[in-house]
Amino acid sequence: MRVVVAGLVAAGLVSAGVGSAVWMRGSASPAENVQAAEKTLAAAPAAAAAQLAAKADPLADVTGTVPASEPKPALAQAKRACANPNALGIGRVVEIDTTGGPGFGFEHFKQLDFLSDKEVVLTFDDGPWPVNTPAVLKALADECTTGIFFAVGKHATWHPDILRQVAAAGHTVGSHTWSHANLNKKGMTEQQAKDEIEKGFSAVRLALGAAPAPFFRFPQLQHPPAMVAYLGTRDISMFSCDLDSFDFKASTPEKIVETVMTKVNKLGKGIILMHDFQKHTGEALPTLLSRLKAGGFKVVQMKAKAPVQTLAEYDAEVVKDAKLPTISSRPVSSVVQTVGN
Ligand SMILES: [Zn+2]
Repeated sequence: MRVVVAGLVAAGLVSAGVGSAVWMRGSASPAENVQAAEKTLAAAPAAAAAQLAAKADPLADVTGTVPASEPKPALAQAKRACANPNALGIGRVVEIDTTGGPGFGFEHFKQLDFLSDKEVVLTFDDGPWPVNTPAVLKALADECTTGIFFAVGKHATWHPDILRQVAAAGHTVGSHTWSHANLNKKGMTEQQAKDEIEKGFSAVRLALGAAPAPFFRFPQLQHPPAMVAYLGTRDISMFSCDLDSFDFKASTPEKIVETVMTKVNKLGKGIILMHDFQKHTGEALPTLLSRLKAGGFKVVQMKAKAPVQTLAEYDAEVVKDAKLPTISSRPVSSVVQTVGN
């Protein structure tokens, strides 16, 4: 397994006692943790040598694998907690440096070929949604595996509790615009498209109580060049896919399984596009995951090196939205207390 800079940074974070999952949830600033990791890196001659070697690899600046020779706490933790000895599990964890907005998924972005043969990334769009998202979460948990969830901002404000379950289960959360608008449609101005992107991230942040990953998927995989460039300036990574499950138009769960397995067997690897919003997807997943396992496929977990930096004006806008349900679920007695009469 290739040893690259970002992977060593991840190992450094861990040895400093600060896992990436922790700072994604916002308990410590990414800058502080990166500084701690850099100190660890500077203290290790082997790491410095690997850093030099990694510079020859164009992928090294963007994706990093937690090295095989290092402890893999996230992976070890998942395995420890896994009650299913035959689970699909997680093959490896990669950390993405989203600087400049790198694109993933060969349907549209062909520069970053980071998956090895038989590696897949599971992605789920359009949630969070009652029943269907929890069904997907259960199927993933039963197989001790993971995916990226591209949440619709509006849905996040309606069902923040479900989105928090997604994050709490250790999955990566990104955004999929505020209202699932096609940013390429006629009459959509650049400002409106930016509003859709930014308000989406702010809404997901509000629902989670912490900034999500700077991972974005364009609705309907429609990529206006101006918005692709804009995401680059915002250091937000774009996700197309390698293969589309077409689960949203599948008449049965079996159809989804057949579509994905046929395509993944042909391609040999890839980022798989699915929808936790769709009922059939959660129903198809138990079979699909066991078929992937039987076929020798391994799931790659993609995490962000740092959370998205949302813009204050959009954070304020989603907070002000009168339709928002309150995020606090504290009982009245813990909020209001009689202290004198
Ligand atoms: Zn969508």
